[in-house]
Amino acid sequence: MSKEPMLLTPGPLTTSKATKEAMLRDWGSRDAAFIKLSAEICQKLEILAGVEPENPSHCCVLIQGSGTFVVEAALDTLVPKDGKVLVLVNGAYGARMARICEIKGRSYEIFETDEDTPPDAEQLAKHLADDPEITHVAAVHCETTSGILNPIAEIADTIAKAERHLIIDAMSSFGALPLNVQDVACATILASSNKCLQGVPGVGFAIIEKTALTASKGNATSLSLDLYDQWQNFEQTGQWRFTPPTHVLAALGQALIEHEAEGGIEGRGRRYQENCQTLVAGMQRLGFSTYLSDNLQAPIIVTFNLPSEGNFEFEQFYDKLHDRGFAIYPGKLTKADSFRIGCIGDITKVDIENAVKAIAEVMAEMSSVP
Ligand SMILES: *Cc1c(COP(=O)(O)O)cnc(C)c1O
Repeated sequence: MSKEPMLLTPGPLTTSKATKEAMLRDWGSRDAAFIKLSAEICQKLEILAGVEPENPSHCCVLIQGSGTFVVEAALDTLVPKDGKVLVLVNGAYGARMARICEIKGRSYEIFETDEDTPPDAEQLAKHLADDPEITHVAAVHCETTSGILNPIAEIADTIAKAERHLIIDAMSSFGALPLNVQDVACATILASSNKCLQGVPGVGFAIIEKTALTASKGNATSLSLDLYDQWQNFEQTGQWRFTPPTHVLAALGQALIEHEAEGGIEGRGRRYQENCQTLVAGMQRLGFSTYLSDNLQAPIIVTFNLPSEGNFEFEQFYDKLHDRGFAIYPGKLTKADSFRIGCIGDITKVDIENAVKAIAEVMAEMSSVP
C-alpha cells in the first residue's frame, strides 16, 4: 500500500495514530460504558467552552452527522417559527446558514460584507436597532472559505446590548482559538469532531444556553435534527435517540485526551499559530502572496492567490503535490482565483516545512513562477 498523503485541509484532517486506534472496539450503544463515554465527552466540551461545572449556564448536545447537520439542527431548534435571523455573511459558511433558514422557512436577512472584510459592529448595532423583528443573529467565527477571523467578541457585545440571541458557527476554531461563554455572550456555540479537536468526522455538537434550550420545545421542523428532543433523551436516559456514531465518539474521547495533554486550547492554538507562520513565510519565500492581510488571518487555513503568470494550473499542481504526499484544498472564494492550505490537524512545523519544500519542487517542475 502506498503511503496516504498528509491532509493539509480543514477537515477531515490528519489525526493521530492513537485516535485512529481508539476505533478498534465495537461499542454497544446501550452499554453503560458507552453512555458514560458520551456523558464525559459532553462534559469536556462544556468545560472547553468555559461553562462552569457547578452552575452550568449552557449544556452540550451531541448530534450525528457532519458540521452542517448541527448548524441546521441548531437553527431549526432554536429559532421559533415566528422568529427572524440576521445572518452575517462573508463566505460560504455564512451563506449556508442563510440557505438553511430559507429551506426551513424561517424569516431571515443577510448582513453581507466582502470575503476579506469582517462585519462592522456599529453598522450591525444600527441594523438591529432598525429591525426589532430580528430575534437571532448567526455568525461564523473563523470563516473557512477565506480563513478570516471574524471579531466574535465585538459582535457578541453588540448583540448582547441589543438583547438578541447569538448563534456562533465555531466549526473551524473550537478547541484552538479562545471562545468562552463567560467572555463572549452567546446563546449557542456550534462545532464538530473533525476540525481543531482532531477527531474523525461524524459528530457535531451544540453548546446551548439552558434557558434557550428549554424554551425551544416544539420549534423544530425535523425529527432527527431536533436538538431539544435529543437533549431531553440524553437527560432522561443518557442515551442517543438513534444509532450513535460509536466509533467516532471513541475517537473523539481519545482526541480530547490528546487535546488536554497538549495544553488545551492555548497549547493547540500555539502549535497552529506556528504552523501558520511557517507556512506563510515559506510560501512568501517562493513568491506566493496571501489573500488576507496578516491582521485578519486566523491560524487555521490560509488562502493563497493563484499565480497570475506562467503556466500554473491548479489540477496539475494538486496532483504533483499529492504524489509527494500532501493533499491541499482548492479555493472557494467567489471573486478571486485561489487555493488553500490548512494549518490544523496532527501536524507540526516540520511537516509544513516539508510541504513547502515539495511545493518548491513542484513549481520548478511546472516551470511556473508565482
Ligand atoms: C467545516 C465547516 C462547517 C461544516 O461543514 P461540514 O462539511 O458539514 O462538516 C461549517 N462551518 C464552518 C465554518 C466550517 O469550517
